[in-house]
Amino acid sequence: MHLELENITKKYGEKRALNNVSISFSEGIYGLLGPNGAGKSTMMNIITGNLKPTVGSVRWNGGDIRRLGSEYRAVLGYAPQQQGLYNAFSGRRFLCYMATLKNIPRKQMKTEIERVLSYVNLADASKKPIGAYSGGMKQRILIAQAILGDPKIIILDEPTAGLDPKERVRIREKIKDISGDKIILVSTHVVSDIQSIAKEIILLKDGEVLDHNTVANLCVKYGSVQDLEQVYMRLFGEDEH
Ligand code: ADP
Ligand code: MG
Repeated sequence: MHLELENITKKYGEKRALNNVSISFSEGIYGLLGPNGAGKSTMMNIITGNLKPTVGSVRWNGGDIRRLGSEYRAVLGYAPQQQGLYNAFSGRRFLCYMATLKNIPRKQMKTEIERVLSYVNLADASKKPIGAYSGGMKQRILIAQAILGDPKIIILDEPTAGLDPKERVRIREKIKDISGDKIILVSTHVVSDIQSIAKEIILLKDGEVLDHNTVANLCVKYGSVQDLEQVYMRLFGEDEH
């Protein structure tokens, strides 16, 4: 199982949101860490095929995702950064809608929806409108739709944004438990969200990959510091925290 970004550049007019980024992913959890504006969402939108890179390509097991099309989309789960798109839907209806978009066969749909609802502890709230959910519940329903159909690649864009510390921990534990034989990419600007669960960390700043390594190696490399928080402060300073 290989997902590869090859020399990805994304320009918005003259602005380079990503500059010649190459990364390989295999099974495991990856943390995409960087301040606001680093290019995290842009990278995720390119991986999911929602955005076309200006230069470069994304390959899944060697094939260009533009050529793979629906075959690639079938193995992909994505929770975008913005919430609030489906406030009028109940949690369950939203999941039915997403399951239909994902071509999950009717026969499996009900069981699959029950599975993901109970996974994110929303079975009891499944009939309430999403608009009435707390921030944490909204993030959890987004994660639930991302894991519908048991995709091989799961992309979670700031799944802990706006949550209180207790909810952050809960989301982190849920992400850790999905893992198995999957590629999971989680973006955040909060080190503690991913430092204990990520196999590798990708440090992104101004559209460039500053480093890509294990937490332990990064700590050694950036001056034998105790934890990733100090690496982050060293690289990104007080940027935004
Ligand atoms: P992050 O998710 O790390 O906060 P983004 O990928 O959203 O970063 O943005 C990276 C850079 O690209 C930022 O400078 C942002 O302002 C810019 N950008 C993102 N989307 C657009 C767009 N649609 N048009 C113009 N500039 C954009
Ligand atoms: Mg973003």
